[in-house]
Order: sequence, then structure tokens, then C-alpha cells
Amino acid sequence: MKNKKALLIVDLQNDFCPAGALGVPGADKIVPVINRYVRLFSKKKLPIFASADWHPIRTAHFKDFGGRWPVHCIHNSRGAQFHPKLKLPKDAIVVYKGMDPQRDSYSVFQAEDKSGRSFLNILKILRVNELYVAGLATDYCVKYSVKDALKSGFKVRLLVDAIKGVDLKPKDSESAIKDMSRLGAKPIKIGVLKK
Ligand SMILES: [Zn+2]
Repeated sequence: MKNKKALLIVDLQNDFCPAGALGVPGADKIVPVINRYVRLFSKKKLPIFASADWHPIRTAHFKDFGGRWPVHCIHNSRGAQFHPKLKLPKDAIVVYKGMDPQRDSYSVFQAEDKSGRSFLNILKILRVNELYVAGLATDYCVKYSVKDALKSGFKVRLLVDAIKGVDLKPKDSESAIKDMSRLGAKPIKIGVLKK
């Protein structure tokens, strides 16, 4: 079977960018690179997905309610909007995760679109079997999404020039990239695709 590719942009939202509630250092620097990937995929009429962390006001994901993180990406808030310079095409498919107040949802495979279709289901409908993954953060949502993609049998290309990590501990991102590669994700940069 021929590979059908799709681009997945993980959580490129204001709250995860430097001025945001849970800003990843340097996150805004990957926006122009991601836009180049978007153009490549648009030109080839391949599907483009963007995930959004999308939390209720009270969730066990936040420190105030026993979780790990400061308040971020409250649904419909400015912090939950995509970075203003991200140029998503009109037909990009947006999927949301983190709505369940009882659990952390790091993986895009826990996300669904506005009509309630799961990310996995949409991939199947579109016959996608190869995912090109960009976005935030390397050591959390990117890592968990890539692991789930591999577990579900997708080929994964990790766009190492278009991801950034939190690094709560130094080298978290580096070891996340090693983990993902060991499990089968192939790290690539934009030069490989331009040919
Ligand atoms: Zn979150």
C-alpha cells in the first residue's frame, strides 16, 4: 500500500509560547518552520491536523486541583488560541484534548474534533498511515502522541526542526527524541521533504 502522509501540529497555542502561562522557551522560533511544512503539505493536498489543549476551568491537570501544571489553555481563552503567526489552511482539521477534568491527556490520540470523531477515526477515514509530527512540547504531548502513533501502527517522521521541549529537567527533550527514535520514529528536517 502506498503511504498516505498527514501533518500533525501539536498544541502550537499561545499559552505554550514564551509569553504564555506555560511558555516553552523558543517555541515561537519554530512557527515559521511549521508554516513551511504547512505549505508543502497544502501543495500536495495532504491532510493537516492541528491539536489544541483545551481544558475546563477545574481539572485535576492543574496544580490548584492536585495536578502538575499551572492554569493554561482554558477552552475558548486567548491562551488556548493557536499562535497568531501559524498559517493554518481553512481545511486543516482541528482536534481538541484535555476536556476530561479527571485525567491528563497528553496524547493527540486522546483528542477529537468538534463533532466528536476521534483523531484515530479521522486518520482511518482519510486512509492516513504516515504522520509527520511537529509542535509542542517535545517531552510531553509530542512524545506521548508519537508513542501512541507507533503503537497504533503508523509510520512516524519526527520533524526535529519544528518541535520544542519544556525541559523541566535538563535534557528531557533530548532523551524524548532518543526514546521516540528507538521506538521507530524517524527524525527528519525540512530539507528532506523539499526535493
Ligand atoms: Zn494541558
